[in-house]
Amino acid sequence: MTQSTHHSVLIVGGGQAGLSLSYYLTQQGVEHLVLEKHTAMHTWRTQRWDSFCLVTPNWQCQLPGHPYQGGDPHGFMRRDEILQYLEAFRRSCAAPIREGVAVRRVAPRARGGFEVQTGGGDFTADQVVLACGGYHVPIIPRLAERLPRSITQLHSAQYRNPGELPPGSVLVVGSGQSGAQIAEDLHLAGRQVVLAVGEAPRCARFYRGRDVVDWLAQMGYYEMPVQDHPLREGVRDNTNHYVTGRDGGRDIDLRRFAREGMQLYGRLLDTDGATLHFAPTLAAALDQADAVYNGINASIDRYIADHGIDAPPGARYEPVWVPPGERASLELAHAGIGAIIWCIGFAADYSWLDAPVFNGRGQPQHRRGVTQQPGLYFLGLPWLHTWGSGRFSGVASDALYLSGRIQAFQAVMATPAAPAEQAA
Ligand SMILES: Cc1cc2nc3c(=O)[nH]c(=O)nc-3n(C[C@H](O)[C@H](O)[C@H](O)COP(=O)(O)OP(=O)(O)OC[C@H]3O[C@@H](n4cnc5c(N)ncnc54)[C@H](O)[C@@H]3O)c2cc1C
Repeated sequence: MTQSTHHSVLIVGGGQAGLSLSYYLTQQGVEHLVLEKHTAMHTWRTQRWDSFCLVTPNWQCQLPGHPYQGGDPHGFMRRDEILQYLEAFRRSCAAPIREGVAVRRVAPRARGGFEVQTGGGDFTADQVVLACGGYHVPIIPRLAERLPRSITQLHSAQYRNPGELPPGSVLVVGSGQSGAQIAEDLHLAGRQVVLAVGEAPRCARFYRGRDVVDWLAQMGYYEMPVQDHPLREGVRDNTNHYVTGRDGGRDIDLRRFAREGMQLYGRLLDTDGATLHFAPTLAAALDQADAVYNGINASIDRYIADHGIDAPPGARYEPVWVPPGERASLELAHAGIGAIIWCIGFAADYSWLDAPVFNGRGQPQHRRGVTQQPGLYFLGLPWLHTWGSGRFSGVASDALYLSGRIQAFQAVMATPAAPAEQAA
């Protein structure tokens, strides 16, 4: 029988979020331990393709005590450079971490605090922070089971490079950030790509002389808390805009790819194993992505005009290709499909969290990461508090905030008559 070990704070997950919180807790002298299922920064190490580049500019890498200090703040680090940046951050944090320890159950105890069961023994803690990301289970629809075994199927998290795929055309399903960039990677390598286009929006890389991210930062968009966003908490369901940092950064224009030979279809609906069926959604999806693109640029135009900023002129995006019609089906054999890459995201799996902190859709319910269960927190989720919460730019401020809440809770716990409710 493994002995329980008690900690003031247990952090589940040794990614950028978990280590950011550890950084502040160490600074504030709060005893804690990080439990990591694999090794620190596991997702960045194992779930990015070879040509991966940041989509956000380097200057937005603002991990605590470790802002980007390279010579290319407006560039986009490649995967290996990102790993070096993260390794240096890990060393500077010197976080107390146990790697190879998967947390299997977290449950509140009747007398306060938590039981934490792991593959490396059982623990107890006064407070627990879930910094285990939101991308747990790669989504592959069950229709995939009907596809011929001769076709290689991968999730975007497993894709590495075009050379690892068997010969033939490649079907990419989904056109969010990963799908659009993987489709581009294959297209640039000369592979025939069939892309099932989804509803993801897109944005320009550069507009009126600057990176669009720089404009939006100056406009305060990245400081906006979720409750001030027009969609409020609904923004957490939004798909990211597709654009790339590759080769110094550029737009991803699927219409241009189509003109160059990529085959675009609407949403993948079904298959009988030999033929794929698509919804007639391609034209609308391309139009909608462009409308968002032009809408963001128009908001930059308004900002420039309102503030009398001297900036070069910009132009509306005009479609360079329009679908001649909606194609409803594709025969796999006729199209020579040798591989399929599913780029339709991940599902969260909190089945091991035995606490009543979920909303009606099974998503964590919290305010800036603080749940209604005293001493239980989330960190690192997209739009936890701002756009940057699930990214390099905003996780530090969320971690600093939570470290304050954790200290406040400790102080309340230390008083003789600790109230049942969490410190306000
Ligand atoms: C394809 C892609 C591109 C991205 N591009 C950018 C970009 O350009 N710029 C940007 O700022 N952000 C980008 N992001 C977003 C963001 O930076 C990452 O999602 C980031 O990895 C989130 O960090 P995290 O620490 O919250 O979660 P994760 O990195 O997911 O780390 C969570 C850790 O928890 C561990 N864990 C999970 N469950 C358990 C358990 N039960 N027990 C113990 N450990 C557990 C995991 O092993 C993992 O190491 C991108 C994300 C993706 C997927």
